[in-house]
Amino acid sequence: IGEKMKRALITGINGQDGGYLAEFLLDKGYEVFGMERRSSTKIRVNCQHLEDKITFVNGDLTDQNSLMRCLKESDPDEVYNLASQSFVGESWNTPEQTGDVTGMGALRMLEAIREYGKEVKFYQASTSEMFGRMEQYANEDTLFYPRSPYGVAKLYAHWITVNYRESYDMFNCCGILFNHESERRGIEFVTRKITDAVARIHLGLQDKVILGNLDIKRDWGYAPDYVEAMWLMLQQDEPDDYVIATGKFHTLEDFLNHSFKHIGVTDWSKYVEQNPKFMRPADVFYLAGDATKAKEKLGWKPRTSLSEMVDRMVKNDIKKYHEKSVYY
Ligand code: GDP
Repeated sequence: IGEKMKRALITGINGQDGGYLAEFLLDKGYEVFGMERRSSTKIRVNCQHLEDKITFVNGDLTDQNSLMRCLKESDPDEVYNLASQSFVGESWNTPEQTGDVTGMGALRMLEAIREYGKEVKFYQASTSEMFGRMEQYANEDTLFYPRSPYGVAKLYAHWITVNYRESYDMFNCCGILFNHESERRGIEFVTRKITDAVARIHLGLQDKVILGNLDIKRDWGYAPDYVEAMWLMLQQDEPDDYVIATGKFHTLEDFLNHSFKHIGVTDWSKYVEQNPKFMRPADVFYLAGDATKAKEKLGWKPRTSLSEMVDRMVKNDIKKYHEKSVYY
């Protein structure tokens, strides 16, 4: 008779990472529970194909008691807190709600786990946006300097997770993940906005793509590679925090080059326009991470290159419109 099946509770199950992490844990033989908010329309775009395999529990990071009920229903060994108001641009429109969900939400889950009493390992989705204004490769010792209400909220969540680890001896880990994209990335993020637009331009459904600040650089990784790192952190003997990144940064122009190349366009200037509407009150110009610690201690490394990822994204978006199945 084998080991007892491990149980994991994932908040943010319907987001990009939630679906990939659920697939990854199911493969490892976990029983997976996904926390979702009750809403009149069910949005399960990223885990619809897993509906028979995972158990959905109703909860909300802004509702303390609902978190306790989710813990009781799922009785997890591991909790992955991926839920948040995750779009940086939106965080200026709803700074308070972003603070409540993204910042206080983590605190509420930690309090719920503490009350629950049993040892539950906790993963907090920290982010490179906590570094914000930086000019060098960032590692775990780099000073934080967030540049958005989102970054500030995530920094609170990060530090409260570390504090609860130190105060209550909880097994809490923060993964400081740099940007990670995929075919399932939300359409409001610049990468998916571009690959979707390139697909539409290719199919004659759209003339151009209108962007904001083109003068940015990011360390863009592939989301399926990154969920493995989350799991690895919780399998170590000691809880700790890790930067997860590719260590390579690219300009937005590089991203446009790769995307348009896929449809045979080398000079994309006539397809791209800029509009201040998509610019932010403050921006993060450069983000690149040094994941040496994760490589050495977790044995983790990224597998997918930027061009491979962009190819998959554009191909998937073209296929989506061909099949005329989903228009998200
Ligand atoms: P973020 O790094 O989490 O903010 O991810 P995003 O994909 O939303 O944005 C990455 C960078 O692209 C930011 O510096 C944006 O200012 C810049 N950017 C330029 N044009 C756009 C656009 O049209 N949409 C978005 N979302 N970002 C844009």
